[in-house]
Amino acid sequence: MKKINKIYPTLDNSVKTMRPKIVDKHDRIFNYLRLAVNEYCNLRCIYCMPEEGLPLRHKSDLLTTQEIKKILTISAELGVSKIRFTGGEPLLRKDISELIEYAVNMKGINSVHLTTNGILLNKYLKEFESVGLSGINISLDTLRNSRFKKITRRDTFEQVIENIYLAIKSRIPSIKINVVAMRDFNDDELMDFANLTIENNITVRFIELMPFDSHQIWKTGKFYHSKDILEDLQKKSNKINLIHGSSTEHYAFQFQGAKGKIAVIPSYTRNLCGSCNRIRITADGKLLNCLYSKDESSLRDVMRNNGSDEKIKSIILGSFINKHKNGWLAQNNNGNPRESMSQIGG
Ligand code: SAM
Ligand code: SF4
Repeated sequence: MKKINKIYPTLDNSVKTMRPKIVDKHDRIFNYLRLAVNEYCNLRCIYCMPEEGLPLRHKSDLLTTQEIKKILTISAELGVSKIRFTGGEPLLRKDISELIEYAVNMKGINSVHLTTNGILLNKYLKEFESVGLSGINISLDTLRNSRFKKITRRDTFEQVIENIYLAIKSRIPSIKINVVAMRDFNDDELMDFANLTIENNITVRFIELMPFDSHQIWKTGKFYHSKDILEDLQKKSNKINLIHGSSTEHYAFQFQGAKGKIAVIPSYTRNLCGSCNRIRITADGKLLNCLYSKDESSLRDVMRNNGSDEKIKSIILGSFINKHKNGWLAQNNNGNPRESMSQIGG
């Protein structure tokens, strides 16, 4: 408690020069901003959006380029060192390269990443290389064309595969494939995905399904527990060795001699909350201190009412100091009101 009081939330001049940190009562430091820059999407993934799409906010409700830049600047001043642009589909925003470039050049930022469904990547890769993007996570849940149509309700499989290989060949340092692992959809493709890591310097990440699916499949028994994913992977190959992954890559593996890695992300079972460092901001500018929490504050409204940077900083610091110890407690405290991951960014 004492430690926190020293840096929170008095933004007087002496503290400002120290670059205050976003912290909570459980001694976690939040230095990773995940910013959804869009709610619109060119896919309709069965675990994310209904076939007809979601009632979308008017474009004027979403953060403008200038508002996003302001949030980025303020976040960097509060100690954020890693940024991820996500959505909806971030590549449907025409200013995406400009935003990435802005983030890359901010003081204190070590890395800037993007999560995309990959459809439009070929249009942007050169720009992303030249502005210095650190990494791209591309979402792909199956290596079979017919299944891709079933999962995404669109016919862009070939395009995504081509773009993944372009990304692997590019100068972007880190390429990861996000696979939402689901029973009866893709649980028989674990090894097909894992085998991609033998020849390619990529990380294949199997992600647990979460309940932000617009009431589509969560209740239909498709959940595939990270422990089962792990067991199934290990059953299928005795050549996978445990290695050290990133903070969210709770379980990370590598085939002997492989160029890439495999990871399993327990995003629903939540045993990664103890090391949470994430700040989430939605495309309409709402700050979330946890995926599963109902609490949110509109930074957009503060900016549009001419609120000062100091006010925005104190809202961010105040939101995190009160963060629940884990996502279960956050959920039990009046639950999460969001329907779809496209509104949160993943
Ligand atoms: N459109 C981009 C994409 O698909 O990569 C970025 C936004 S998407 C919401 C971000 C990540 O969330 C994707 O990897 C997607 O697979 C994942 N996601 C979406 N809905 C999910 C759910 N219900 N459970 C688990 N992951 C989900
Ligand atoms: Fe679109 Fe990404 Fe949601 Fe799929 S997961 S519908 S690509 S936002």
